[in-house]
Amino acid sequence: NVNGSNTQTTSPSLRSNHDRRGQLRLRAQELRSVRKALPIAPHANEIREKLRNYDVMLLVGETGSGKSTQVPQFLINEKWCQAHTVSMPTVLDEPRPSSKKKSVTSTKVKVGGCIAITQPRRLAAISLASRVAAELGTPLGSSSPSSQVGYSVRFDTSVSPCTRIKFLTEGMLLQEMLRDPYLREYSAVIVDEVHERGMNVDLVLGFLKRMVTEKGSLDGRGGIGLKVVVMSATADMEGIENYFSQPSPVHENGNVNGDAVISKSVNGHHEKVTAEGHNEPDSEDSWSGLSSSSPEPEDVPQSMNSCSIATTGSKTQPQQSLTTACHIKGRQYPVKVIYTPAPVQDVLDSALHTILHIHTHEPLPGDVLVFLTGQETVENLASLCQEAHLSLSQDPKTRSTIPKMLVLPLFAALPQHAQQRVFEKTPPRTRKIILSTNIAETSLTVPGIRYVIDSGKCKKKQFRSRLGLDSLLVKPISKSAANQRKGRAGREAPGTCYRLYTEKDYLMLDQDNDPEILRCDLSQLVLTLKARHVDDVINFPLLTQPPREALERALLHLLQLQTLDPQTGHITPLGLSIATLPLSASLGRVLLASLEPQFNCLPEAIDIISALSVENIFLPTTTEEKKEEAETARRELYRREGDHLTLLSAVQAYASENSDRKAWCSKRFISHRAMQAVMDVRKQLRALSRTLTATPDKLAAGSGDATDLPTRLLRALLTGFLANTARLMPDGSYRTLMGNQTVAIHPSSVLFGRKCEAIVYHEFVFTQRSYARSVSAVQMDWVGEMVG
Ligand code: ADP
Repeated sequence: NVNGSNTQTTSPSLRSNHDRRGQLRLRAQELRSVRKALPIAPHANEIREKLRNYDVMLLVGETGSGKSTQVPQFLINEKWCQAHTVSMPTVLDEPRPSSKKKSVTSTKVKVGGCIAITQPRRLAAISLASRVAAELGTPLGSSSPSSQVGYSVRFDTSVSPCTRIKFLTEGMLLQEMLRDPYLREYSAVIVDEVHERGMNVDLVLGFLKRMVTEKGSLDGRGGIGLKVVVMSATADMEGIENYFSQPSPVHENGNVNGDAVISKSVNGHHEKVTAEGHNEPDSEDSWSGLSSSSPEPEDVPQSMNSCSIATTGSKTQPQQSLTTACHIKGRQYPVKVIYTPAPVQDVLDSALHTILHIHTHEPLPGDVLVFLTGQETVENLASLCQEAHLSLSQDPKTRSTIPKMLVLPLFAALPQHAQQRVFEKTPPRTRKIILSTNIAETSLTVPGIRYVIDSGKCKKKQFRSRLGLDSLLVKPISKSAANQRKGRAGREAPGTCYRLYTEKDYLMLDQDNDPEILRCDLSQLVLTLKARHVDDVINFPLLTQPPREALERALLHLLQLQTLDPQTGHITPLGLSIATLPLSASLGRVLLASLEPQFNCLPEAIDIISALSVENIFLPTTTEEKKEEAETARRELYRREGDHLTLLSAVQAYASENSDRKAWCSKRFISHRAMQAVMDVRKQLRALSRTLTATPDKLAAGSGDATDLPTRLLRALLTGFLANTARLMPDGSYRTLMGNQTVAIHPSSVLFGRKCEAIVYHEFVFTQRSYARSVSAVQMDWVGEMVG
């Protein structure tokens, strides 16, 4: 009885529950034969056996072999995977009067019982969870208290008290570690799609490596072990194998272990000195693990990169191999690859032609998946497809013969319900055309896809050291990414992949994705580490070590955001609050600043931050005529202070539009989909901010005197984006305050062509020159005050 009541079994709600369970069971039975036919199925016992004997397993299997959906199901009934209740000592702060020692009692704690599977992307986490729930015949997530499969992604967690398999994004696992560094909920963590090498997966691996290789690290779990499975579609796992067999370079302060002691490395031996009464180190080199030739950065406090405090019982190396590997040969239907004979000039045009060729020549069923670079290109191609389809359906020659075209965009910022539409069954006499960024590249099975069109490009974050900033650049993908994309066409039947580049260009692509850690701003990474009390960030065991300068730059940025204490290098309470927000450190800083009395602009800051979370709400216009039309229609939204306040007025106007929001958007050439996504984020941030503020009615109360609201907002913005400011030079150009680089205001900005004393901007884009995008005018006085 799910409700725990004694209601008669004839009650309609119980009957419908009963029916629902019956349906779920039936569906699970149907799926059983599909599961049995997966290439991974014969390996089930081997995987179980190996994990009984080893703590870490590396599992390589081609895409579609069944790794993500089956491995958690293989393991869930293993003995080591059941929950344990352990007694944990609890030290009470108040000593008993009779004793000088701290009082120690014990508490019963539940450890293990659940498996976590991390994914690089939200959509994959949700779709895999719903697939595994269907295969197990259990309801999904919070929909029923008895559900055994759940998921947790940014802004959306759906679990039940009975959840045993949880799909979550890497970022959410890192968030869970803030609450519980021992990950007590889990018996195993499966790290999926490591070959993507995003920053968060490297961090997750680092923390897991410490948990499985450092002695004493299981103290917080009452000695109950944690198994780690690392899964990848590319065969090169040697690096990861070595990584898990090597000792962590040094041990950090307050890690997952017990009492802190100072560990000093002398000639490769570890000397331990208890934390009480330790002496200052006499030689810096032996404390830092850094080579003495590397100069200390000028402004970085010593303590941030030189102190190494370890815990009792730290050990340098596991005695025996912890790692085992398993290879699974995939099963993929053949996919024919068609290259362009010559490089294409206009990718969108070429994609459109290919789509129309398939649509008018190939039989149904046969849906199409197109990989593009970003939201803007997706939106553009979507409207081109709609136009083309309209003319085909109006043309008497083709009207009766051509199937309908269902165009579905797919990008990260799209609201979840819109993303889910791609999984729906294609209606009869219709071809689904999915226009996607690389979010559909791995992990996803979109039923019905027979054709893939690959632009060969994706947007990548890249750190521009001269500007001291990350910028998004359109870059060629790697060979392994191209093959992942191609693979999407052969999941259910033979398929075709149209590559919008030449074979020669394909051969020149890099083999694998380069790790994000080597090319991005590391502020987020360092904040994540500091929030988990890893103070010696330079020696944290990462799979790929980032350049030291990049770490130092991140430390300086975090200092400037007041998230680190300049004396100790430890995280500040403000930094800790920022680390718990689902926002970048800079945007998190702005959100928290907006709560301060001198800025007092929370609701408006949330609106702006939400609008900045999507790529662009304003649709690009293709012709001069359309551009003018758009300009006139949007005029009422434009604010002379700049793009941030313009975004605010757009969000406010959209939010108060009660009749027809779609028409409101279309009149102003604003993306309705993007606005829905903005409202999604806004809703979540508003809910979250209620937990941040002692006066929860701040949202309803508004932000006081409206006359100086723009000033307060822009000054709050500066607290997070001081590094993104530039001042006007006598020659009319703008130079960044940090780095003294020339930047131009992006033509899409409302400030384009205007001369302002100084500007603050959200991001850089590169085309022929460095452009600042999402720009607002600020006063040098404000900047000066902020610098102090
Ligand atoms: P891998 O992780 O090795 O790429 P998965 O476990 O994700 O493989 O998928 C294995 C198979 O399960 C797919 O080839 C497909 O047949 C089926 N499958 C997985 N997810 C879905 C889904 N959401 N809808 C339909 N079939 C799915």
